[in-house]
Amino acid sequence: MREYTRSLTIEKATDVVVVGSGPAGLAAAIAAARGGASVRLVERYGFLGGNLTGGLVGPCMTSFSLDGKTQLIRGIFDEFVRRMESLGGAVHPSQTVSGSPYSGFMTFGHEAVTPFDPEVAKRVSMEMALEAGVELLLHSMVVDTVVEDGTVTGIVIAHKGGMSFVPATVTIDASGDGDVAARGGAAFDYGRDSDGGVQPMTLFFRVRDVDDEAVSAYQAEHPDERFPFQSIVERAHEAGTYSLPRRGVQLFKTLESGVWRVNTTRVTGVNGTNVHDLTTAEVAARQQVVQLLEFFHHELPGMGSCRLLDTASTIGVRETRRIVGIYSITLDDLVAGRAFDDVIAVAGYPVDIHSPTSINGPFDDGVPPTANVYEIPYRALVPAQLDGLIMAGRCISGSHEALAAIRVMPPAFAIGEAAGVAAARAVFTHLEPREVDVADLQTRLLNSGAYLGARMDIPDLMITSNS
Ligand SMILES: Cc1cc2nc3c(=O)[nH]c(=O)nc-3n(C[C@H](O)[C@H](O)[C@H](O)COP(=O)(O)OP(=O)(O)OC[C@H]3O[C@@H](n4cnc5c(N)ncnc54)[C@H](O)[C@@H]3O)c2cc1C
Repeated sequence: MREYTRSLTIEKATDVVVVGSGPAGLAAAIAAARGGASVRLVERYGFLGGNLTGGLVGPCMTSFSLDGKTQLIRGIFDEFVRRMESLGGAVHPSQTVSGSPYSGFMTFGHEAVTPFDPEVAKRVSMEMALEAGVELLLHSMVVDTVVEDGTVTGIVIAHKGGMSFVPATVTIDASGDGDVAARGGAAFDYGRDSDGGVQPMTLFFRVRDVDDEAVSAYQAEHPDERFPFQSIVERAHEAGTYSLPRRGVQLFKTLESGVWRVNTTRVTGVNGTNVHDLTTAEVAARQQVVQLLEFFHHELPGMGSCRLLDTASTIGVRETRRIVGIYSITLDDLVAGRAFDDVIAVAGYPVDIHSPTSINGPFDDGVPPTANVYEIPYRALVPAQLDGLIMAGRCISGSHEALAAIRVMPPAFAIGEAAGVAAARAVFTHLEPREVDVADLQTRLLNSGAYLGARMDIPDLMITSNS
């Protein structure tokens, strides 16, 4: 260890600073700005979207109930999708069905997914943020959190010009990894209870020049295979001819003919908050891409002439810190579809655990099925210990199993939207996030197009002012 002292430049203060521009941070920044707050969105990359864009992750998993009948995630997510759709960059989830190429031929949990073009997502993310009045601070990595008397009063960023302090009344941690909360000293959980293992990392890539019809024909001839090309992969495992990290090839058709996203590299036993592990994982996954392409060329119908289109800008990290909130969501809450007085989002995607230690998963971990619709309470977004801070997205409070359902992109949008509205309310009412009037928050969410489940469907009160 070595200690040193440095003076920091001070950025101008804003009401709300949002750290991370993935689905959660993007929605949070837009919602807080629309709520009248001055908002700064801090992002380490040069574009917005997080996994949605830079991670090449897609499609957006279901925004509907598990049975595919009711759209649950609406609000900013739906606006975002419809805007991409109007540019030819997405198919609305109401138009897609499970078992189709857009769903990667998967059935369970794969009803009503949203295929989209990541470049259109980059464009729409930035346009929506700027139109809402969000001030962007790109190429800025949050490296520390300033806490005074138990309240987060701002963050420290590192950038090409050095380091700066960014003050804010309320900070939203949408970094995925809970960087702000952890640096501020908040307690967090990590990994599954049995051995602390976390889900593996995966580097997405896309291939072009695929014979779409041949791929679909193979799946149609093998309806019993749970994962695409499963029996071919199993034969390769038995023969030891290829080192394959999964039980099948998880691939999703995109909007362009012959182009598929591949979610099949897998690096286990690595920690997404450790720079050495991230480096190891990035190298290993990029080597796996080369091996997988060779396997595709030699073994897979319809993929013999495919070529690499691109790899994601960064390896995708499925699981790291879960910041301990006032309430921690359990698997039982999701299975029972437990009703919460402070519900701020509802979702229907099931528990999707990629094994921390083996080639298994998703969906073969033996956990019971989740309810058709489950609720996410506001208290899971509020850290148990710190004030001035709200969590959004993958780092909210819950068990390893519960977060394995809630972590996908549509719920992240919905949670982010709630966090943004709550942050603006905290600012205008001079209250801490934990003191925000939840009934008022729910009414504001409903008024702006969010859906909080059938029992919350009709708002009693239409609020139009910020007072
Ligand atoms: C391999 C993989 C496959 C997945 N498959 C799917 C799928 O098919 N469909 C689906 O819907 N979901 C999928 N998910 C889940 C989903 O992508 C994420 O859980 C979701 O993006 C979480 O949203 P978020 O906003 O919380 O975090 P992220 O999308 O991770 O965004 C976090 C943002 O914060 C920024 N950031 C992080 N730390 C800092 C810092 N210290 N300073 C500044 N900026 C910072 C990052 O650059 C990023 O922009 C997958 C995830 C992975 C990793």
